[in-house]
Amino acid sequence: MSGGSVFASHAYLPQGWTDQVRLHWNAHGDLTQVETGVQPQTGETQAVWLVPGMTNLHSHAFQRAMAGMTEIAGDRQDSFWTWRDLMYRYALVITPEQIQAIAAQLYSECLRHGYTGVCEFHYLHRDPAGQFYANPAEMAERVIAAARQTGIGMTMLPVLYSYADFLEQPLRTDQRRFATTVDDILTLLTALERQRDAQTEIGLAPHSLRATTTEQIRTVLQTLPAHRPVHIHIAEQMKEVDACVAATGKRPVQLLLDSGMLDQRWCLVHATHMTPEEVRGVASSGAVAGICTSTEGNLGDGFFDLPGYLAAGGRFGIGSDSHVSQSPVEELRWLEYGQRLRLQGRNIAASTTQKHVGDSLWHAALQGGAQAGARRVGQLRSTYRADFLILDDAHPNLAGLPAQDVFNTWMFAGNDNLVRDVVVGGKTLVQQGRHIAQDEIQRAYVDCMRVLRGR
Ligand SMILES: [Zn+2]
Repeated sequence: MSGGSVFASHAYLPQGWTDQVRLHWNAHGDLTQVETGVQPQTGETQAVWLVPGMTNLHSHAFQRAMAGMTEIAGDRQDSFWTWRDLMYRYALVITPEQIQAIAAQLYSECLRHGYTGVCEFHYLHRDPAGQFYANPAEMAERVIAAARQTGIGMTMLPVLYSYADFLEQPLRTDQRRFATTVDDILTLLTALERQRDAQTEIGLAPHSLRATTTEQIRTVLQTLPAHRPVHIHIAEQMKEVDACVAATGKRPVQLLLDSGMLDQRWCLVHATHMTPEEVRGVASSGAVAGICTSTEGNLGDGFFDLPGYLAAGGRFGIGSDSHVSQSPVEELRWLEYGQRLRLQGRNIAASTTQKHVGDSLWHAALQGGAQAGARRVGQLRSTYRADFLILDDAHPNLAGLPAQDVFNTWMFAGNDNLVRDVVVGGKTLVQQGRHIAQDEIQRAYVDCMRVLRGR
């Protein structure tokens, strides 16, 4: 593949909306030059509205297969924990071929809605009987293969999952596919190292403080190169917070802060239930909060303290987690709406320097997502990846719109997908709203789902 260029009447550059822009990239898919104040040339690719693509900082790809299947009331009070029992049933049957088909469908959907990279929090390591495959990284490599099939950028985070609960409770039998010791995770990290390339980074995900200990995390971090990301689920549910206090005398975020490990390489997924002191502690650590609004809403987790966290200078990104939504717009819209409902106010994510809520949310999530994925993305700037979206300028919502209203209109006016074309690493993956391999990917997914649903 050779390099390329695109002209945009309006592009969202690091300094904000800029007119008459031309982006150039090389054969590796890295931007080499960003020209401004230029004129379009005949025959070149042209866009009206061009914006950087979003990183989806939290995904469990296999859960795409059960989206919409758990919205039926059970015999007892439904909760995150009853949902988890159903999720385990799916997790126990999925084969390597099936996880690849499911992940490819998911990633093609993510691309079509504006995600250009994904952080995969991957814990389906072992076979359904609980044994490692001949290649211990078989399942993770299938997920990476799906990312390559679709073209989305990938940060693979193999999960360390050793215990069922605080105080090192042994795993349940239905958690056997996740079972990993410190030695297992070191084996997986070594095996995955050869997958690293311009589109693929490898990090680590201690599942939670329920499933790992701070001592285990510290041991693995000693061998992980310094710039690699570390993601952890934390304080998603009050039951988890209460169990942590009972076991350790501390809330989970406090426990992690006190460990002295927290810094910019960390992504705290959810971090829903924090005290004001914890909010300030996470913000000042430089870590990213991984907010997954649609899943948190679906599972009844609670509200993240967005205004408190932003006031403390906290960084955040967004993730689709259980994949009840594949749209960054929906994720950000509901992040803002949740806060409005909670606080009975409006325009919560605006700031004194950025009064447009949509711009403020997209910009913050771009930076937080890029940091959490540990890849050079999220900015249309030389040496960064050529990952961008071209919006559908023929859509009536964008007709005659000034640039400063584009994000707000995209985020808060209706549900049409305004993403027309998607380019990742300089390669066009979505054209006129369709992924370039959509038919083939969808066929494999449909076949897989018929088997999984027994039809
Ligand atoms: Zn998760």
